[in-house]
Amino acid sequence: MIESFKRIYDNRHEYIGKWKEKHPDRKIMGYMCTSMPEEIIYAANALPIRILGGHESQNVSQQHMMGTFCPFSRDVLAQGLLGKYDYLDALGITHTCQHIYQAYESWVLHKNIKSFYIPTPNTSQTPHALPYLRGQLKLFLEKLEDWTGRKIGENDLRRGIEIVDTTRKLMKQIYEMRKSESPPISGLDSMLMVVAAQMSDKEEFNTILEDVIKNELPGRKAKATPSSRLMLIGSEHDDVKFIEMVENLDAIIVIDDHCTGSRYFWNTTEQNEDALTDIANRYIKKPPCPIKDFPVRKRTAHIVNLANEWNVAGVIEIQQKFCDPHELDRVAVSKALEKAGFPILNLEADVTMPVGPFRIRVEAFLEILSSEELF
Ligand code: SF4
Repeated sequence: MIESFKRIYDNRHEYIGKWKEKHPDRKIMGYMCTSMPEEIIYAANALPIRILGGHESQNVSQQHMMGTFCPFSRDVLAQGLLGKYDYLDALGITHTCQHIYQAYESWVLHKNIKSFYIPTPNTSQTPHALPYLRGQLKLFLEKLEDWTGRKIGENDLRRGIEIVDTTRKLMKQIYEMRKSESPPISGLDSMLMVVAAQMSDKEEFNTILEDVIKNELPGRKAKATPSSRLMLIGSEHDDVKFIEMVENLDAIIVIDDHCTGSRYFWNTTEQNEDALTDIANRYIKKPPCPIKDFPVRKRTAHIVNLANEWNVAGVIEIQQKFCDPHELDRVAVSKALEKAGFPILNLEADVTMPVGPFRIRVEAFLEILSSEELF
């Protein structure tokens, strides 16, 4: 049922608590970036879960991170310091931006938790990236073997790939349905789905997705009347209140490019080589975030393609305040979208602040779109 997405999102810690009761012999690793190879963690018979913020103001992170770090990374650290994730057996991160890395380092230092850092390549466009990443994944796998006390073979890795790729394929199938004139699922439920997928056991979650696709979405309309079709892009943004506010106006979000959306699951694993090389290849080819998108900026073309394919009227870019990587990309992405004929509204957010003040700007943007649609 679609409601399951929200239930998991709202009750993520209770969900994991119950999961742990059912699987007392399995370990749980929290992770902080969509480049974390969940396949290998499943192959180790452990459970990977994504750590996100609590969306509430907090006063515990400022001793450890400066106020000029993005509010998302500070919110994530606060979750750790407040003990919200004390059930984790380990914390993992890949090489990503300095802000979230600082949250990871500080969490590990102050909670004294087992940690796994994978130095994934930022220059993923060079021919060295694939063998380098494969080597790093092999080291990660060996550390997981030590941690769990079990060997991870080729069949285990293939099983891990199968679990995670199934989630990716099913969610992509649902995203495809959003191309329709009357999408069967809202932007809000789509985001709840993607985030719930990151916070739950994918073997259980895949059965929910299959049920939703088979029994719930056919013939369903997320909105009774046609609304302006929007795309959402930007840095990490699981702010469901913001999406709810936008969709309560005359709009529906039909596609996105951010890491609590399509960037998390867009590509699957091509099976060409040994499993570790295939996994490395999948992460090298995944839709890039600005940190890994050079020397050729590929992200802009990907975003414009999505806007075209999902036939959007306009784009809202919402990025975390002080998010350096996305600020760097902002001008190029905005120019590319405008050149392709897609108006864009740029917003800067703080995940821990209320979204009310954005309402008037979104309303004005929708007015512009509807007047443009008239001509
Ligand atoms: S929102 Fe930006 S600065 Fe914050 S963790 Fe993500 S990429 Fe880094």
